Amino acid sequence: MTVDVEDYFQVSAFENHIPKEDWDRIPCRVEANVDRILELFDSKDVKATFFTLGWIAERYPAMVRRIVGSGHELASHGWEHVRVTEQTEAVFREDVKKTRGFLEEIGGQQIRGYRAASYSIGSTNLWALDVLADEGYQYSSSIVPVRHDLYGMPEAPRFPFSAANGKLLEIPVTTLKLGRRNLACGGGGWFRLFPYLFTRWTYRRVNEKEGEPGVFYFHPWEIDPDQPRQEGIGLKTRFRHYLNLNRTQSRLERLLDDFEWGRMDEVFLK
Ligand SMILES: [Zn+2]
Repeated sequence: MTVDVEDYFQVSAFENHIPKEDWDRIPCRVEANVDRILELFDSKDVKATFFTLGWIAERYPAMVRRIVGSGHELASHGWEHVRVTEQTEAVFREDVKKTRGFLEEIGGQQIRGYRAASYSIGSTNLWALDVLADEGYQYSSSIVPVRHDLYGMPEAPRFPFSAANGKLLEIPVTTLKLGRRNLACGGGGWFRLFPYLFTRWTYRRVNEKEGEPGVFYFHPWEIDPDQPRQEGIGLKTRFRHYLNLNRTQSRLERLLDDFEWGRMDEVFLK
C-alpha cells in the first residue's frame, strides 16, 4: 500500500497552470489529509509506504515524524515533483540525493525507496535506475508497464524485476493483462473511475491466479472533495483530477478490509 505525499496543486496535470513560485502562497491541505490517512490506516491496522516530496517534508517535518512514528515506511518522491523526463542525469542525481538525505535527517530512518513524479521513468531514461542505485536507493516504483498518453513503458515486466546490475529492484504498480495489452489499475484515477468491485477483482486475480503481491497507490488530495477547484484546465484534466473524489475514502476502506497490506520494504525486500 503506497501513498504519494504531495498537495493537490503540485500534480503534473496542473504544472502549466500553477507555477512553482506560487506554491508557497497556496494554503496546503496535505497535512490534514495525511492525518486522516494515518487515522484510517491505524483503524485498519495497516502499515504502508509514503513516497514524500522533499518540498513537503521541509515544510511539515512534524507530519513526516508522525508518519514514521506510526510505523510506516518513509520513501522519496523527489524534491518538487519534476518529472525525470524533464531532468538531465546530473540534475536528477542532485535531486534524489538531496531528497534522500533530507528525509533521512527529518524521519530518522533509512530511505530505501523512490517513486518518480508521474511515473516518469521509461525506455528513454532507464539510466535513472542506475543513478538511484548509485545514490543508495534499494528499490524504485517508477515504471508503469502500460501504454498511456502521459507515462508508461508497455514492454516492461509487470512484476518486480532487477535493474542496475542487480543493485536495484523496480517494483511496478499493479496492472491487469487483457489480451496483449496491460491496463493500469493500481490506483489514482482508475480507482476513482471504475466501480470498487473491478479493483477487487483485479487484485484477487493478481494474488490468486498470478501468485504476486499487488501495488496500490493514492494521493492525500484524492480523499479531499473540498479542495479548491482549479480554473482554466482542460476537460480531460478536470475529469481525471476531480472524478469521484467523494467516493475514494469509502472505497479505500473496503480495499483495506478485503486484502492484507504492508510496507513496500517489508513485502518486497527480503
Ligand atoms: Zn506525484
